[in-house]
Amino acid sequence: MIWTGKRVTVAGLGVSGVPAARVLRDLGAEVTVVNDGDDERARLQAAELEARGITVRLGDGATLPKGTELIVTTPGWKPDKPLFAAAAEAGVPVWGDVELAWQLRGPEAAPWLAVTGTNGKTTTVQMLATILEAAGLRTAAVGNIGVSLLDVVLSEQPYDVLAVELSSYQLHWAPSVRAHSAAVLNLAPDHLDWHGSMQAYAADKGRIYHGNQVACVYNVADPATEELVRAADVEEGCRAIGFTLGTPGPSQLGVVEGILVDRAFVHNRYQNAQELAEVSDVNPPAPHNIANALAAAALARAFGVEPKAVRDGLRAFRPDAHRIAHVADVDGISYVDDSKATNTHATEASLASYEHIVWIAGGLAKGATFDDLVQKSAERLRGAVLIGADRALIREALARHAPDVPVVDLDRTDTEAMAAAVREATRLAQPGDTVLLAPACASMDMFVNYGKRGDAFAEAVRDLEAAGGQEQ
Ligand code: ADP
Repeated sequence: MIWTGKRVTVAGLGVSGVPAARVLRDLGAEVTVVNDGDDERARLQAAELEARGITVRLGDGATLPKGTELIVTTPGWKPDKPLFAAAAEAGVPVWGDVELAWQLRGPEAAPWLAVTGTNGKTTTVQMLATILEAAGLRTAAVGNIGVSLLDVVLSEQPYDVLAVELSSYQLHWAPSVRAHSAAVLNLAPDHLDWHGSMQAYAADKGRIYHGNQVACVYNVADPATEELVRAADVEEGCRAIGFTLGTPGPSQLGVVEGILVDRAFVHNRYQNAQELAEVSDVNPPAPHNIANALAAAALARAFGVEPKAVRDGLRAFRPDAHRIAHVADVDGISYVDDSKATNTHATEASLASYEHIVWIAGGLAKGATFDDLVQKSAERLRGAVLIGADRALIREALARHAPDVPVVDLDRTDTEAMAAAVREATRLAQPGDTVLLAPACASMDMFVNYGKRGDAFAEAVRDLEAAGGQEQ
């Protein structure tokens, strides 16, 4: 690709847009950034980019600049935006941040082990990176998390292999990425307002398997993931590898009597199995997290990592904040922050991890329905406290499927509402119960992000602790 003088439009300032614009300009491209917003922050960013010779158009993200030869978009921009219709009409290709990184990587670039799924991506990618590190490989957990993929692929220091998290948005805009091996962890309705339909969402997730060289890793318990493998156009000899919480068949990884075992990457898989680690090596050893560990192990084994490094890596792994994080025990009640449970599928896994729960839920539903979740979890619920914009949807599902569960509907969307929610939940809880923040919704109606929501919960719990529990 010759970049000098190439006219590239970067769609959207922000986390991926600003670094993309800088890198393209440094390569000699004529860069124009278009952005819907025109606020203070956008103006500051624009000034910095303009000083580098980049054109910035604020307050107009819809019009395609004349002469555009390529669009590099923020992955979050919806495909039905007028800018993309104009691009399609003009025959201009659209790349996301991941496609750009893929195209810019050098000839000796590290292979990618890629992970997607509705839930568990970050956890699995981080587990994978710790396993690869335990094997003595130079690696990084990148993609939809912390470290910028663009920085990593352009880094002077060569990597041996990358553990790459890819969201459905990123996959949508990444037509030519070819992973060494990839995993789809699970598939449940999420972000349907963005993709338009479940079918379109699944198809974008399925792109991760296209062109895989060694292994397509799927979830035996989620047949939709296996269907995506079947539909994928892979390299000759690439294998389908399942992971299961049950006893594994040939070409699968699974669990036998508390041991994680590999019947895929072993000599004579019809007779042999290889012990990888114990269930207790997984942190925390909740069922959904053991599934994540098996998927990470499958990708590492596909890359040739020895069993001992799988065990050592899993032992070294520490989960990120706000993912089933125990905050405190107060008066015999346990308080757990799973603010990262932003959809019903994650919340179902979360609610399945405890016996008696006072559930704090609500926020932005993103087009989800809650009947299935409430039906599956009703018997574990001691009570529910609802907050946020779409709480009525959850309240109605509770009324339909769990009419005996006491519900407190906090008619509030202000930030202080979390403290009130924790107080109400404490009132409903009995000693031995868990007060669980697992909102099944996005946070942006009340908080900057799920992290701030979890922080507000933890702070409210600490205040409660400092005040001496519910008696005060
Ligand atoms: P992602 O990066 O896909 O959002 P995370 O690892 O950050 O995934 O976890 C998101 C949420 O999903 C957390 O609330 C966690 O408890 C839950 N979760 C993690 N792994 C799984 C899984 N395999 N199945 C269902 N829920 C999961």
